[in-house]
Amino acid sequence: MSEQWQSVKVLVTGGSQGIGLGIAKVFARAGASVMITGRKSESLKRAQTEMRELGLDVRTIVADVSDPASCQAMADAVEEQFGGLDVLCSNAGIYPEQQLGNITREDLDNVFGTNINGLIFSVQACLEALTRSGRGRVVVTSSITGPTVGFPGLSNYAASKAAQLGFVRSSALELAPRQITINAILPGTIRTEGLDSLGAENIERMQKCIPLQRLGATSDIGHAALYFASEGAAFVTGQTLTVDGGQTLPEVPLLQ
Ligand code: NAP
Repeated sequence: MSEQWQSVKVLVTGGSQGIGLGIAKVFARAGASVMITGRKSESLKRAQTEMRELGLDVRTIVADVSDPASCQAMADAVEEQFGGLDVLCSNAGIYPEQQLGNITREDLDNVFGTNINGLIFSVQACLEALTRSGRGRVVVTSSITGPTVGFPGLSNYAASKAAQLGFVRSSALELAPRQITINAILPGTIRTEGLDSLGAENIERMQKCIPLQRLGATSDIGHAALYFASEGAAFVTGQTLTVDGGQTLPEVPLLQ
């Protein structure tokens, strides 16, 4: 545990499983105070139990990032329980597989409502608390899908993840006078409950495309988030960091 993190207060949206839970564990291990959110209280309880079994403390709050009032409630809860907020990890996201021809207005509202509106509402709700921190940080979990590469069946998701980067770059300029930085992580293929829903065949195909020959771990993304939140990254804003085991590097497909 390092002294740097002991007074740092962190909120992770979508922290009840997958990458968000991995981020929460990395910050908690470093010594920060961590609160996680998600829509389902049972999943949050399960995550809290898992972290406690590892000797890590975490607070939880049920919140839906697609709803601005719910985002405000989560920001108020973190302020009330921790007495402030230094780091927002905006990670909640969904990636339902849908062929282009079948995407409905409702599907678009669902994906953009969570991935883009949810990011913007989360930052808005936490704005004053992050400003009061004096060292506010926003770390966004974007993706290689959309900003860097494409994936059939994920076109609306890819569009939402690319849109996140437009928000990161422009909001970085608005947040800078408040001494708040905002940066995005572009994960490659990371083993999570959500990814498992894409099916074993898809996952095996993905693994074969990764030069480091393994799927990413949620802690790989957690450590990238920790970097963006660290004192060492104080002068870094509006940037992206790809964490993909080299997945987006090959000029021709790998034959592993
Ligand atoms: P996951 O296992 O499905 O977990 C998603 C988390 O987000 C859960 O905690 C879920 O909890 C929460 N969530 C979903 N909708 C929400 C909402 N409206 N409000 C609040 N919380 C919500 O997904 P993951 O694979 O860890 O992905 C996490 C993030 O990483 C996403 O933004 C995703 O796009 C990005 N990403 C993942 C990968 C990958 O390979 N896994 C790669 C690139 C980027 P509830 O369902 O209880 O709300």
